[in-house]
Amino acid sequence: MARIVMKFGGTSMAGIERIRHVASRVKAEVEAGNQVAVVVSAMAGETDRLVQLCREAASLYDPREYDVVVASGEQVTSGLLAITLQGMGLPAKSYMGWQLPIRASGHAAALIETIDVDVLERVFDGGGIAVIPGFQGVTAEGAVATLGRGGSDTSAVALAAAMKADRCDIYTDVDGVYTTDPRIVPRARKLDLVTYEEMLELASVGAKVLQTRSVGLAMRYNMPLKVLSSFEDKPGTMIVSDEAIEDSNMERNVITGIAYDKNEARVTLTGIPDRPGVVAAVFGPLADANINVDMIVQNIPRAGEASDLTFTVPTASLAHTAAELEKLKESIGFAEMLTDTNVVKVSAVGVGMRSNAGIAATMFKTLADRGINIVAITTSEIKVSVLIPEEYTELAVRVLHTAYGLDAEEDAA
Ligand code: ADP
Ligand code: ASP
Ligand code: MG
Repeated sequence: MARIVMKFGGTSMAGIERIRHVASRVKAEVEAGNQVAVVVSAMAGETDRLVQLCREAASLYDPREYDVVVASGEQVTSGLLAITLQGMGLPAKSYMGWQLPIRASGHAAALIETIDVDVLERVFDGGGIAVIPGFQGVTAEGAVATLGRGGSDTSAVALAAAMKADRCDIYTDVDGVYTTDPRIVPRARKLDLVTYEEMLELASVGAKVLQTRSVGLAMRYNMPLKVLSSFEDKPGTMIVSDEAIEDSNMERNVITGIAYDKNEARVTLTGIPDRPGVVAAVFGPLADANINVDMIVQNIPRAGEASDLTFTVPTASLAHTAAELEKLKESIGFAEMLTDTNVVKVSAVGVGMRSNAGIAATMFKTLADRGINIVAITTSEIKVSVLIPEEYTELAVRVLHTAYGLDAEEDAA
């Protein structure tokens, strides 16, 4: 007997027919003798609809009330799945975030603090199935909190860690983690194994198949994490430790995958004076305002002359960033602030980069051959990212996928 968490995403929960199918997968695991907690997302499109309603109600809405609204999608699907399982003769019940409770701090992108598993232990002792809405928790004040978009993955892994599950299975609308988003590159290849570290980096640069925080948590707790299809019976992708991959003796590509992120906006400050402390005077206040600056490029000025400073922030923080910088204009003394939301960050990720030179050069040459201009570059030990005009997203991802030898064979595509 194993103890497992099964998480089903929005497409898998979209409508009663699909919920019935999810219920049959849960039934199979229960009948195999496993203790099962199911974590569900809202129906596909529902959270977007609820977010839009908040925006229509007020452009600067209260995050506490936003959470009250957007958490409701998962409440509906967990109730519906419990009803469906009961209809199949299975002892299932739903437990909201506040009923367990899943304690969290903050609103709109709340962090899970602790999860009480007493209720779950009683459910399992009685041979029952727990259905838990993803994405939600409860604050110390007793208010509903949500964990940020895509947060049901994090709910599932956190729950799996708290209840000491043997594994956490993430069921979604693709049959695993691919070398890039299979919806934009049909020749993307499914990966059988990915390391936590690579998945963490891929998720953080835009591969939305798993929420970044869920991968970080799985890595910390060494929780076996699997991504697999809700609809097809296929083996999926295992996310494993570095050592497990080394032990498997698999031949690996230097680059594991390519990801893209359209949620970045470029900000350029022109005429920045050349004096010590200027960069700190820009980024200090942005950090204090909780704005996450990502890529940074500064031109080196000729002695005594002014230069330009370019950086990126999440598109959602652009208005906030512009307001903060406007306040600093006089004290810093920059000439102009230029912004652009029509940019995309494209990244190549792979642990093999550590021991292979020339990965970045291949990226620059491949993009140059297509006439794609690079606005900014950042690198880490296992990643190279470039900022390019958004109109080239698909072309760039496709040509890089080919350049790094990731394309599937013609007949397998
Ligand atoms: P869910 O609703 O199940 O949480 P998501 O829409 O959040 O599903 O994530 C699944 C989607 O992630 C896929 O439909 C796919 O378009 C996208 N995706 C992006 N990058 C990748 C990748 N490298 N591998 C697989 N899917 C990816
Ligand atoms: N329903 C939430 C969202 O769409 C959480 C999730 O699906 O993971 O962001
Ligand atoms: Mg998701």
